[in-house]
Amino acid sequence: RSKSLGRCCFRHFDLSMQVEAMQRRQIECDLRAAIVKNELELFYQPIVDVRDNRVHTFEALLRWRHPTRGLISPDAFIPIAEETGLIVEIGEWVVERACRDATVWPDDIRVAVNFSPVQFRRCDVVALIARTLAAAGLAPDRLEVEVTEAILIRDAEATCVVFDDLRRLGVRLCLDDFGSGYSSLSYLNKFPFDKIKIDRAFVSDMHNPKSLAVITAITQLAERLNLSLVVEGVESEEQLAILTNRGIHHIQGYLFSRPRPFAELLPVAVRAPGKAA
Ligand code: C2E
Ligand code: MG
Ligand code: MG
Ligand code: MG
Repeated sequence: RSKSLGRCCFRHFDLSMQVEAMQRRQIECDLRAAIVKNELELFYQPIVDVRDNRVHTFEALLRWRHPTRGLISPDAFIPIAEETGLIVEIGEWVVERACRDATVWPDDIRVAVNFSPVQFRRCDVVALIARTLAAAGLAPDRLEVEVTEAILIRDAEATCVVFDDLRRLGVRLCLDDFGSGYSSLSYLNKFPFDKIKIDRAFVSDMHNPKSLAVITAITQLAERLNLSLVVEGVESEEQLAILTNRGIHHIQGYLFSRPRPFAELLPVAVRAPGKAA
């Protein structure tokens, strides 16, 4: 009896795996078409210095405007793009688009672009960025490359060389989702980061004194190591007050703005010098 049940469960498992594989192939196929059909779009979310309420960076966040399924979030398709290698092509489009978009903003606003570990493995990111900046006519120090800890785990040596090259190019490096992965503090010395971004999990869990203690400790660490610090995922005034009390001023979160399409940013971003805001 238990044997037949086991077989039944196995078949069920097998079937759901097949369905999942089919769905993935469908998404892969749709995604290839999406690139050609221009269905990918960049949204931007501001990172604000709360001391003067100015935007100093916009983070580019990818969206897929699917003709029937509507706006699809990156978490639903980036992993598939990574598995299939499509992320290389998509990532090229993202950085080109983001750099072109940024040229329209005032010179003191940077653009932050997320890069996948797969891009670093499969393409020459330094060459890509150098040629993209030149083509767009964007100053290198206006581009910030965001990577997560995942990239530091494999090929640490090679990654370090690439990071040094990026720094020489004048591009800035940000360690995203800090504290969420396999953080090792030695990364902070070993790799030439300009900035760390505390993962939003710590913010949503801030009522827990232990999470708050972690935030405080990371703040002190960043200060000692001369790294800029951003906290992402700030949704309430209460969270903001606790963070500013701890000397954290660079904030990203729904409290200020959700990610929005490029065309909707202009009123925020463009403050022509000499004109009233
Ligand atoms: P991320 O780089 O850590 O980006 C921050 C994510 O947090 C974004 O989700 C943003 O919308 C969300 N967020 C910001 N503030 C708040 C808040 O106050 N509350 C909540 N609940 N969420 C907030 P999104 O846009 O869905 O992007 C998810 C992830 O997808 C990104 O995480 C990044 O890892 C990846 N991603 C997005 N665009 C790209 C891209 O162009 N290339 C690559 N390789 N990855 C990308
Ligand atoms: Mg990011
Ligand atoms: Mg993040
Ligand atoms: Mg993330």
